[in-house]
Amino acid sequence: VLKKSLGQNFLIDQNILGKIVSAAELGPNKGALEVGPGIGALTQQLAKLAGRVLAVEIDQRLLPILGETLEPYPHASVVHGDILKTDLPELFRQHFDGLDGVSVVANLPYYITTPIIMKLLEEKLPLENIVVMIQKEVADRMAARPGTKDYGSLSIAVQFHCEPELVTIVPRTVFVPQPNVDSAVIRLRVRKTPPVEVADVDFFFAVVQASFVQRRKTLYNNLAARFFTKENKSELETLLHSINIEPSRRGETLSMDEFARLSTALRAHGCK
Ligand code: SAM
Repeated sequence: VLKKSLGQNFLIDQNILGKIVSAAELGPNKGALEVGPGIGALTQQLAKLAGRVLAVEIDQRLLPILGETLEPYPHASVVHGDILKTDLPELFRQHFDGLDGVSVVANLPYYITTPIIMKLLEEKLPLENIVVMIQKEVADRMAARPGTKDYGSLSIAVQFHCEPELVTIVPRTVFVPQPNVDSAVIRLRVRKTPPVEVADVDFFFAVVQASFVQRRKTLYNNLAARFFTKENKSELETLLHSINIEPSRRGETLSMDEFARLSTALRAHGCK
């Protein structure tokens, strides 16, 4: 019995499973972490290629089935738990020590896609790739370029940590029951170093967030509302001009470089 509340939607299409697994670039010296193995169709494919596989599944009822599916693969194990509450650094120490690299591979529960990806990225795990099947619309936002309608704080958060690449689009028709959205497989290659230099990462993201609070407002209006008062907001105009960013632009037109420049200037100005 599928539990809709847990985003359960099991993948059986071998062609798509194959594309997901090969995008992860696994091998005997690599590890794979799977989030939400379900009944283990993807887990089995991972186990055929990776030196070590660990899957975290929240639904206790699936553990006996998974135990059977994974019986032939002693280097694959399952832990019961909520990925969002799991101590990942500790799990990595226990299961992936000594490997050349670890990738996350998953057909994610869509209702918590963003929190899961952000947790994986913010915990600074030694990850190589994150290959996930997610809603196509979310994949588009992750990979979006400046000046497009999909570009926003999610694009910048993901692209700060990774290089996103669309692997394939998965039409809703391959699922039974058929969901009402299309899906996509996206590969996020985790960067060793960020693409821009920022002294204070939290402040950089605070500036990005603030710039998108009201998408239709100008950058000037959004930033003034967050970092300035009525009395001192004229300083913002001068500041923006000094770094060659036109105050009437919208946040969605700024590149990551421009956001880096902006956050550096606002910080130097004493904004918090
Ligand atoms: N990987 C399987 C497949 O492709 O057939 C199942 C994918 S299904 C979309 C999502 C899976 O994630 C389900 O098995 C569900 O129980 C599990 N899940 C949902 N929320 C979870 C969480 N917070 N932590 C771990 N697993 C979760």
